[in-house]
Amino acid sequence: MTKSVYAFGAGKAEGRASDKNLLGGKGANLAEMNRIGVPVPPGFTITTDVCTLYNQQGEEKTVAQIRAEVEDGIHHVESIMGMKFGDREDPLLVSVRSGARVSMPGMMDTVLNLGLNDDAVVGLARKSNNERFAWDSYRRFVQMYGDVVLGMKPESKDDVDPFEEIIDELKESQGVQNDTELTTADLQELVKRFKAAVKKATDQDFPTDPWEQLWGAIKAVFSSWENERAIVYRRINKIPEDWGTAVNVQAMVFGNMGDNSATGVAFTRDAATGEDLFNGEYLVNAQGEDVVAGIRTPQQITLEGSQRWAKLQDISEAERQSKYPSLEEVMPEIYQQLSDVETQLESHYKDMQDLEFTIQDGRLWILQTRNGKRTGAAMVRIAMEMLEQGIIDEKLAVLRVEPGRLDELLHPVFDPQALANATPIAKGLPASPGAATGRIVFFADEAEEWAARGEKVILVRIETSPEDVAGMDASQGILTARGGMTSHAAVVARGMGKCCVSGAGTISINYKARTLKIDKQEYKEGDWISLNGSTGNVYSGKIQTREPELSGNFGKLMDLCDKYTRMYVRTNADTPRDSKVARNFGAKGIGLCRTEHMFFEGDRIKAVREMILADDEAGRRKALDKLLPIQREDFEGIFEAMDGLPVTIRLLDPPLHEFVPHEEANQKEMADEMGISAEEVKAKVDSLHEFNPMLGHRGCRLGNTYPEITEMQTRAIIEAALNCMAKGIDTQPEIMVPLIGTKEELQMQERLIRRTVDEIFAERGEKIDYLVGTMIEIPRAALTADEVAEVAEFFSFGTNDLTQMTFGYSRDDAGKFLPIYIEKGILKVDPFQVLDQTGVGQLVEMGTQRGRSTRSDLKVGICGEHGGEPSSVKFCHKVGMNYVSCSPFRVPIARLAAAQAALENE
Ligand code: PEP
Ligand code: MG
Repeated sequence: MTKSVYAFGAGKAEGRASDKNLLGGKGANLAEMNRIGVPVPPGFTITTDVCTLYNQQGEEKTVAQIRAEVEDGIHHVESIMGMKFGDREDPLLVSVRSGARVSMPGMMDTVLNLGLNDDAVVGLARKSNNERFAWDSYRRFVQMYGDVVLGMKPESKDDVDPFEEIIDELKESQGVQNDTELTTADLQELVKRFKAAVKKATDQDFPTDPWEQLWGAIKAVFSSWENERAIVYRRINKIPEDWGTAVNVQAMVFGNMGDNSATGVAFTRDAATGEDLFNGEYLVNAQGEDVVAGIRTPQQITLEGSQRWAKLQDISEAERQSKYPSLEEVMPEIYQQLSDVETQLESHYKDMQDLEFTIQDGRLWILQTRNGKRTGAAMVRIAMEMLEQGIIDEKLAVLRVEPGRLDELLHPVFDPQALANATPIAKGLPASPGAATGRIVFFADEAEEWAARGEKVILVRIETSPEDVAGMDASQGILTARGGMTSHAAVVARGMGKCCVSGAGTISINYKARTLKIDKQEYKEGDWISLNGSTGNVYSGKIQTREPELSGNFGKLMDLCDKYTRMYVRTNADTPRDSKVARNFGAKGIGLCRTEHMFFEGDRIKAVREMILADDEAGRRKALDKLLPIQREDFEGIFEAMDGLPVTIRLLDPPLHEFVPHEEANQKEMADEMGISAEEVKAKVDSLHEFNPMLGHRGCRLGNTYPEITEMQTRAIIEAALNCMAKGIDTQPEIMVPLIGTKEELQMQERLIRRTVDEIFAERGEKIDYLVGTMIEIPRAALTADEVAEVAEFFSFGTNDLTQMTFGYSRDDAGKFLPIYIEKGILKVDPFQVLDQTGVGQLVEMGTQRGRSTRSDLKVGICGEHGGEPSSVKFCHKVGMNYVSCSPFRVPIARLAAAQAALENE
């Protein structure tokens, strides 16, 4: 028969750290701590397999199967502790806790002080010499057991806990405020009333037999794996149903047995900054929950920590010593033991540990250890310092940092204290990370004006359009009511590294009244609001922010990434400024320069409009002649910023109607400019209307119907490259054709490009190397990639459009239903953020393979938003891409994810 119970205690254990799957994280670590000589209260772990059995075959069969092993487990604890379960003289009390493979904080159940009854409480009182403590433990037990095991816990926020109600009644009748003021007699009365409440609710007496209590608690923990909260948590965190939870039964130790007892939590390094400093908090004569409950001020463990804390609190050294001394001062010997244990645990687990301890009557016990949670900054610092200290090697250091957490190091952040006091008023999508605080402004041009006079502003729009870019740039952050993660606001903000919350559906904006309404609350232009682009939360008022610190450790980590990565990282950038930012972050070129973004700047929009509104080719060419020098200059700036690195420039992509004036005044202005009537302009604008512009006259369809646009852009690119070459700048242009679905669409563009380039080479009498490639963003292009590769010298997967067209979800409209789909569990994540590897991924993989079947050295990359998302980057590595391209501020994240992908697939 397979073993169901693994015992530990007194320096021995049947399990070990590597048994996490079988014993859960907590159980495996309790076993391991015994093996390495850390003092742990004895106990045993019932395996996760039993949980699975329990939920498959029911409780009766399962209990029968494990009964003898559990009884042996209790006897094992009794013999180590020299105490007896349910004894009137010296009762053994135990805790019963859940513990899955991965921590699922607060999702499942725990029972403490189990084994107490009317006999055992007498023994506990005598042994502890503290009657009040014994009865307090007893009433806490009945309450916890009633809530957890007997199902008396309130189900909704509006229901009251029957036990809390009884406590409140008693406190009122005794005229006291706090639980601590209740006398022993009061606590005895509480136990009596609690038991009566149990009888009333369950029609049964409170179980007095410790064995019955134990089985009740074990069954409750197993059942809690199937509770609603746990199921939802598993779904969100992708934890498989069949993992199950273990049950840990362990001898209770008490930190509230008098002044020689204490309890606390400790970290082997600073979880906020990563500093290699042992730290933590404790309280004398207290239980674990008192440390976190905030009723008493917890004290620092180390003297140094205590002195730093006092300084921050403005507390004098004399006051600190008398009121808040450190554990190091109060119990120097125990402190020394604890300090030795933390060093031992950290070097054993080779990671920062978060531990819980209790000191019972002068004796130290460690109740739990686990890898500590930490900020992004701490993550980097700890990994790099542990590498320097020889605790971990380079590969492990790279794998230790979660790529997504690097974000926190790159953008301004809210002061944590200030954030704790703020209440969110709305929630949107975390479109671009960072923290922003500023005054509400509704119009982009006004945002520029306000910013010019030194105001900090948040641009609040229903949605943004390319005309808003300068205003967005001038703002601290952007909030939109509509639009998803690939909306204009989101993409542009990420590119700028600017905080953005998009698609906050509950806000309603009235441009005319210059107000913003959330529920019934109205906010006016000039009111302060704050945005958290990492969570999507919107706050009213001002929240203090601080600049990020890019420490030396960050640079060292990036160097390590370069050492182990196979793919390299490019950036999506359309301006020299963004290019420089990305280069500083380690981008090895531009993977996508969206040329349409350049059409909007300054006065050039007029020339663009003139081109679109022209009646014939001659009219278009006239307007294009005006645009040529401007585009050429733009490209020169970008080539210069990317000296020595490849630059992929995409030909014009969006539908023409996006560029034309829709308001009457602008139409009039355009009419004057062109010397035609306003009616003519309006008629032309109307004729450009499309029912479904995303599937309309855009991408290569523009270049194939108006070849002169492609000619102009090609000329601008190649002339810029030649001009740069003359200045000694090393340029590597790659011309990219968007939105092709057939080889012929690409071929027509390619011939046009090459003919134009040859003309320029002939005119100038000089040459430069260049490539012509295409985006793969239409499913048909992926399916026929072998044909497409006959023409294309490189592929870049445009997974924004590819996702749109594979799912059939409009990028512009998906915001209406995607959040609901995710809430209902139809989709686990937004496929516009995280590449759908199962569906869209097939097209990416197939496209890559088919492309390379024709052209074995085909360069393949990705430039959709997924190029900066860690799980998608890892997928790109697996399908054999050469590079990923993402917005500048995500370059470090992608570099780390790419290096991890290489190491994970070694
Ligand atoms: C894409 O479709 O993935 C892409 C990068 O192009 P855009 O987002 O400009 O359509
Ligand atoms: Mg696209």
